[in-house]
Amino acid sequence: MGGKSNVPLITKGKRLDGRKFDEMRPIKIEAGVINRADGSCYLEWGKNKVIAAVYGPRELHPKHLQQNTQATLRCRYNMAPFSVPDRKRPGPDRRSTEISMVIREAFERVVMLNEFPTSGIDVFMEVLQADAGTRIAALTAGAVALADAGIPMKDLVAGCAAGKVEGEIVLDLDQPEDNFGDGDLPIAYVPEKDEIVLLQLDGDFTKEEFEKAQGLALKGAKKVYELQKAALKAKYEKN
Ligand code: ADP
Repeated sequence: MGGKSNVPLITKGKRLDGRKFDEMRPIKIEAGVINRADGSCYLEWGKNKVIAAVYGPRELHPKHLQQNTQATLRCRYNMAPFSVPDRKRPGPDRRSTEISMVIREAFERVVMLNEFPTSGIDVFMEVLQADAGTRIAALTAGAVALADAGIPMKDLVAGCAAGKVEGEIVLDLDQPEDNFGDGDLPIAYVPEKDEIVLLQLDGDFTKEEFEKAQGLALKGAKKVYELQKAALKAKYEKN
């Protein structure tokens, strides 16, 4: 974010990849893709590719992590070394640790953890190909995998980001827009509770720009929510 692109990111009201300002990248979601997992999901969001797998509720090890009144939710967001043009150093880093934490905090708002005292629920989110917006793509896939595992939830969590590119508020930044744009606002939302459960802001927005971006991101999240539900329905119609 912040550098200068050598090509204009917006020309005649259209973005580099031809999208309108309020248009998301194409999204494909499939539930139930890993036999060994209790729940799973494969998601493509533009050029992003993410796989999520959920294990649990199951006995939690190490035992000292067990909580007497509720399940312990553990989330791991990870980018594969081959997910970006320059090989990413494998293993956790500050960015993935932070993303894992904010995704866990979002899921904790909906998963009925108190139904499974002392157990553990693990959500693994692996980014196979990254093209900006991966925290929201991972969260979207993770939420579907949790539901696919049959874990009781108040609702799904759906997300989308909006950002600022060449002074315009646009929906769902891709990599060039993320690299050379002026700001990014990823949001995760629980439609049933009308609650925002993740909001991060990178860049400078005026109050008006922020409100416009938030409104646009929420509209995007509501569309993602419909796709998540359709993916879950499709799996259970198949079986
Ligand atoms: P998000 O993926 O949620 O938008 P960031 O804004 O931190 O998160 O990252 C934007 C994009 O930058 C990522 O989707 C990825 O394509 C790229 N990126 C992030 N970290 C790295 C890295 N260590 N090496 C190469 N590219 C990266």
